[in-house]
Amino acid sequence: EEPMQEPGHGERILVSVRLRPLNEKETARNDVSDWECINDNTIIYRNNLSISERSMYPTAYTFDRVFSTDCSTRRVYEEGAKKVALSVASGINSSIFAYGQTSSGKTYTMSGITEYAVADLYDYIDKHEEREFVLKFSALEIYNESVRDLLSADTTPLRLLDDPERGTIVEKLTEETLRDWNHFRELLSVCEAQRQIGETSLNEASSRSHQILRLVIESSAREFLGYDKSSSLTAMVNFVDLAGSERASQTLSAGTRLKEGCHINRSLLTLGTVIRKLSKGRNGHIPYRDSKLTRILQSSLGGNARTAIICTLSPAHSHVEQSRNTLLFASCAK
Ligand code: ADP
Ligand code: MG
Repeated sequence: EEPMQEPGHGERILVSVRLRPLNEKETARNDVSDWECINDNTIIYRNNLSISERSMYPTAYTFDRVFSTDCSTRRVYEEGAKKVALSVASGINSSIFAYGQTSSGKTYTMSGITEYAVADLYDYIDKHEEREFVLKFSALEIYNESVRDLLSADTTPLRLLDDPERGTIVEKLTEETLRDWNHFRELLSVCEAQRQIGETSLNEASSRSHQILRLVIESSAREFLGYDKSSSLTAMVNFVDLAGSERASQTLSAGTRLKEGCHINRSLLTLGTVIRKLSKGRNGHIPYRDSKLTRILQSSLGGNARTAIICTLSPAHSHVEQSRNTLLFASCAK
């Protein structure tokens, strides 16, 4: 197996933006779309800016990729996440994030990406008979800095432990060895059901919590072909559906009043800081240890790891402030 090239600076974090269509509710209240993707890399604000706004906000934003309202999730996956996800097969850790305000399309996008990626990994495995692969799946939720197993009915918060060899591990987290694709689909349903248990309002809960679906892939050369059995690889890919970005917006837009019930989310804020520092390529201190999310993902962020961030955007004029915050986050990440 050809080892992947060490990525150069700027290649480690792939940042894209996905604009969803106006939904029925927005259309019904005569909300209008503010944004337009004018090519594969540029999204523009197409309403007129007042003179004072013009000095405050850019009208055009450029990213590795932008996906307009008519792009399928398949295409978002192919161009915005596939390379990063599949690097796991070559032994490179990776994380794929959906970042954006509540209702912008994070779950819609990330659930599609996860399924396409796992299907592609099974394809890859079928085509590489010279190696033997083992896939292990786990799933967790971080809610108010408390970690919960999404594959277990036990809702007791899980502790994080520091293992000298493996880094941060989640104690007692269920890890299922996947039998096949159908088994994976079954486990996804278990996660979905677990996520809903005990939540009075799903929307409220999902806007505050982070979900991590993790696939660990171990592979080794098959002995009968005379390869060195010791050439084994272990890596993981993390599919991360983040809490609504309105949970971090206070620091991004100075002067914005704290909305009621809109608590700052430590994990989301720390992730922002970590990603900004990594994207600058500085060697200074990276505050992984400041939140549960970044501790859990540390080995899949920075270093040799690959990262893809899909920022989801609502087109509605009523969401313009949050959309600008999302684009600002995306700009800082690249
Ligand atoms: P979030 O997870 O960010 O809160 P969701 O993924 O739940 O948002 O999306 C909110 C609603 O918008 C859902 O009903 C979803 O099906 C719909 N939606 C999101 N993105 C798209 C899209 N690109 N095309 C069509 N519908 C979308
Ligand atoms: Mg969601």
